[in-house]
Amino acid sequence: MSNPNSLLIGGSWTAAADGRERRVVNPYDATDLVMVAEASALEAESAVCAARAAFDEGSWAAAPAVRRASVLTATAEALQQHREELALLETLDTGKTLTESRTDVDDATAVLRYYAALVTADAGRTVDTGRADAVSRVVHEPVGVCALITPWNYPLLQICWKVAPALAAGNTLVAKPSELTPLTTIRLFELLQERLTEAGAPDGTANLLLGPGVVGAALAEHPMVDLVSFTGGLATGRSVMRGAAGTVKRVALELGGKNPNIVFADADLDAAVGFALTAAFLHSGQVCSAGSRLLLHRSLHEEFTAELARRADLIRLGSGLAKETETGPLISAEHRAKVESHLAGALAEGAVLRAGGTRPTEPDLRNGYFLRPTVLDGCHPGMAVVREEVFGPVLTVETFEDESEAVALANDTPYGLAGAVWTRDAGRGERLAARLRLGTVWINDYHPYVPQAEWGGRKQSGTGRELGPSGLREYQETKHIWRTVSPAPQRWFAS
Ligand code: NDP
Repeated sequence: MSNPNSLLIGGSWTAAADGRERRVVNPYDATDLVMVAEASALEAESAVCAARAAFDEGSWAAAPAVRRASVLTATAEALQQHREELALLETLDTGKTLTESRTDVDDATAVLRYYAALVTADAGRTVDTGRADAVSRVVHEPVGVCALITPWNYPLLQICWKVAPALAAGNTLVAKPSELTPLTTIRLFELLQERLTEAGAPDGTANLLLGPGVVGAALAEHPMVDLVSFTGGLATGRSVMRGAAGTVKRVALELGGKNPNIVFADADLDAAVGFALTAAFLHSGQVCSAGSRLLLHRSLHEEFTAELARRADLIRLGSGLAKETETGPLISAEHRAKVESHLAGALAEGAVLRAGGTRPTEPDLRNGYFLRPTVLDGCHPGMAVVREEVFGPVLTVETFEDESEAVALANDTPYGLAGAVWTRDAGRGERLAARLRLGTVWINDYHPYVPQAEWGGRKQSGTGRELGPSGLREYQETKHIWRTVSPAPQRWFAS
């Protein structure tokens, strides 16, 4: 199957000028799903010019917030109407289970609705000038043309985290999803474009480019782009930041994590084991906030690790479409090879394999990019597998003696995205939450989030925040307007 007209530029669906296409592959069995257009720097130029013209025309930025909000609300409704279709596309494209994909569609819907509501409730603020004849207010304006670059693990969700606040604020945009998983983003933009047109938004308000990293790089560097919001790996994030520096554009980075999951001896251990598995192995660990570093109180170590390894071995791998499947494959052969090389390095450094570590042997999983959930014991902060993001189903186990050591180990990483603390002592939970240098801390839970609360990383996990009110601010400029109602002559200078 081929879908050559899968670039949206200036309101029209179009093919790449040189006719180039790219195969989209199902990671479950390595079969081809569809061919889509592959843009180059040429289409990046056209899309940026279209977004610039649409922004400069002015009507979208100046539209009442309720009108922009209505586009988001209508798109949210469309996502729900097409929920099963979108979930199926996401599962075929990423390998995740249908249950996860449906949750992603629902979460994407929620974020569109959240920003539709938030933008209509926030018209800036007035400031006390101390003078009866002067009015001062602080207002929010769109930044301009936004480049939105997203990864392959949560394609629909990640793009909605960016598109919703960007459009709510009155920006125009060019989106560039990962070339590995473009299908739900294409469908989203079809639904979105129809609703933008109905609302009278200028052509080019939302543009979609499919293509390799060079297209993303062209967007990050482009002088007509005012903001780049990037979610992806650390090395690419650094390169985006360097590219954006040339024109000092605004940059928001959501990068990786090496997230600690800390379990104290007084925790509900049954719950903690279950959540340790979810934290590490949901979507085969291809989650930026995956709890990939398990920190156990020394007294728990043997019992907890044995139970964890036993249950990890029971996790059912398979097709995301099958009801019994609990987790799917990795995204590509290249990515699995990268994860396996981390694994080999860890074993060479002395890690002890307690579960997994190999590809599954079931015949129906032979062609897909599967790797068994893996538990590595005997780890310490000097090991590469503990320091570097693996982004696969690999959980390292370390031990600590007391709170201070737990905090020191947890913070001993260049990343600072998310993590969890398991304890029945509420005071200890709060003490740790305060000392962990992370963007999100869960106490007695792992992974929940809501669109109302900010999401993002400290240290090299990124800069800026998505979701919550801060997620809207990323896409807004702040302007102070002072008005003197009846100006009197100035007497500063004698003349
Ligand atoms: P990459 O960094 O490889 O790619 C992310 C996006 O950037 C893709 O669209 C990619 O295109 C594009 N890209 C690649 N090179 C460049 C470049 N030089 N300039 C601009 N854009 C470029 O990440 P992955 O897709 O491999 O995703 C996995 C990574 O994302 C993990 O490290 C993970 O931690 C991180 N991540 C972070 C999240 C967070 O919230 N903090 C959430 C999800 C993922 P293409 O794929 O077509 O090459």
